[in-house]
Amino acid sequence: ADIPKEYEGLIAEKTKTHPCFSGCAGQYARIHLPVAKKCNIQCNYCLRKYDCPNESRPGVTTKVLTPEEALEKYFAVKAEMPNLKVVGIAGPGDSLAEFENTKKTLSMIRQEDPEVTFCLSTNGLMLPLCVHELAALGVSHVTITINAVDPKIGSKIYAKVNYMGVTYTGETAAGILLGNQLTGLKMLQDQGIICKVNIVMLKGINDMHIPEVVKKVKELGCAISNIMQMIPVKGSAFEHMPLTSYLEITEMRQKCGLLLPQMYHCKQCRADAAGTLENDESYRFDKDYLSDSA
Ligand code: SF4
Ligand code: SF4
Repeated sequence: ADIPKEYEGLIAEKTKTHPCFSGCAGQYARIHLPVAKKCNIQCNYCLRKYDCPNESRPGVTTKVLTPEEALEKYFAVKAEMPNLKVVGIAGPGDSLAEFENTKKTLSMIRQEDPEVTFCLSTNGLMLPLCVHELAALGVSHVTITINAVDPKIGSKIYAKVNYMGVTYTGETAAGILLGNQLTGLKMLQDQGIICKVNIVMLKGINDMHIPEVVKKVKELGCAISNIMQMIPVKGSAFEHMPLTSYLEITEMRQKCGLLLPQMYHCKQCRADAAGTLENDESYRFDKDYLSDSA
């Protein structure tokens, strides 16, 4: 696609000050605004009463905000955090499963703040239908969690997918999800949006398959991949699955690093994280906006 040069320059500038996409983790801050409660798929490592483990640390419950509350919180945090550069929507469910809330939040912030970088994470199911609006909202960075590029493997990871009012299971579900993830990734590239792919490393399920995932997403223009540990969630289908060690994750990142840049500094943040990756200060803003239960 023809992406204007000035736009490419702007995105490159934004990437330099995005703590997850560059090496500036200690310098610049990001905030996650938890406006998307619902999810449209069921991953076997997730229990929906907690935050989406595709992007967030599982086992944490974040109180969902309305777009109006999120706007208010953003400006309250910004007033105290001059290095705040990025607004992200990372759940606690899926940012595109509740696209109306995500859209409203971002467009209200954009009206008052033309500069701040917009970022979101998603399982990718609704991406093809949302990409143009995301570009229009000025979203410059998107993270998609893609755990497999083979529906057979995907069917062991996803219990079901709700798409256009129909619930799918098995390889059909995994195939629909995968098709939309890959189409969405390609469409984002065509809009000049920078993409990161998260991959949850699951022992005996997708661990041997990860280099293939990385190879495929690289072909479609993904900029960086983030191979993550599954932290078992009590009550989820994968609660008793053997864990991947930090060493195994590191070795896989090194192996895949030969194909594509790797993220080594992901903190698996909460859906309401605020601050630099090294110093999360979300608790400072908890009192006014958050309670313990969702
Ligand atoms: Fe849970 Fe996130 Fe998967 Fe949805 S996409 S089921 S919130 S891990
Ligand atoms: Fe960045 Fe990882 Fe935190 Fe997302 S979960 S904001 S990628 S450090």
